[in-house]
Amino acid sequence: MTTSDLGIPPAPRIEGAEHLHSGKVRDLYRLTEGPHAGRLLMVASDRISAFDFVLDTTIPDKGAILTRMSLWWFERLADVVPHHIVSNDVPASVAGRAVVCEGLDMYAVECVARGYLTGSGLLDYRATGEVCGIPLPAGLEDGGRLPEPIFTPAAKAAVGDHDENVSYDAVVGVVGPDVAARLRDVTLAVYARAEGIARERGIILADTKLEFGSRPASGEPGEPGEPGEPGGVATIVLADEVLTPDSSRFWPADEWVPGRQQPSYDKQIVRNWLLSAESGWDRSSGEKPPPLPDAVVERTRARYVEAFERLTGQTF
Ligand code: ATP
Ligand code: MG
Repeated sequence: MTTSDLGIPPAPRIEGAEHLHSGKVRDLYRLTEGPHAGRLLMVASDRISAFDFVLDTTIPDKGAILTRMSLWWFERLADVVPHHIVSNDVPASVAGRAVVCEGLDMYAVECVARGYLTGSGLLDYRATGEVCGIPLPAGLEDGGRLPEPIFTPAAKAAVGDHDENVSYDAVVGVVGPDVAARLRDVTLAVYARAEGIARERGIILADTKLEFGSRPASGEPGEPGEPGEPGGVATIVLADEVLTPDSSRFWPADEWVPGRQQPSYDKQIVRNWLLSAESGWDRSSGEKPPPLPDAVVERTRARYVEAFERLTGQTF
């Protein structure tokens, strides 16, 4: 599948930047002019994806909300792990929904931490009693809290495919034992920090997906990217977006009842509507989903705003 089959529109031209790549939600550019020339420009669009399709309908302000939320989290994680943000001083046409970041060599692993069981983890558990090769106690329900948070990595799928849960050994196979251990440890450390912050605000962080890259071990003076650690050990840097409703499951703590689907601050409203009779969409058809009705767009937008405001205490 190509990006256009997926419904990803062509990336807008940005003066002083060269387009590199468009994902389902973000467009990546390299800056060619200005104080940050050579750095990456990561632009969050208002696109929303569901069931691995990019929908024709956009959610107004989603890109800005998720950008602000990521920046808020990066700041609160900076003493746990270095991050890729250089500046939020971006070209005017993408103001508020883009960041300037370090270009990293990304590790081809989606680093997931789970403190609660649902989604693909629950499906794997029901089939095998394990998630990513980690055995779990019997009797866990949908939304149940795990005895302790676990690292459940996934392999990034080709465009248009599902990410696939993989074992820790598979991660070792991709990045080697040292980096695998560091990715696992830092993923769990980020989860622990974020889970605590969210809990203080009445939100359960059920799980989250992180992406990391490496800073070259020996950055040459004048090259983009700071020098890595001495001794040739690559510095692991937290990249992409972090702890947004697109990458994480946030549940209102006061509505948490294990044994059912939890109300969530993510695109659940969209998924539920698409699966309802009203949408007329048959997931198994392989057809692209229909446009969303205005009411679903408005409720989804409100949910993203609510997540942002409740977490950060700021007004959007
Ligand atoms: P999807 O997340 O929808 O499955 P995707 O990951 O290809 O698809 P986006 O998340 O929309 O697309 O785009 C962000 C892309 O930018 C990802 O490929 C991510 O790995 C990459 N990326 C994020 N931060 C950096 C960075 N600092 N250096 C290099 N690449 C980065
Ligand atoms: Mg992504």
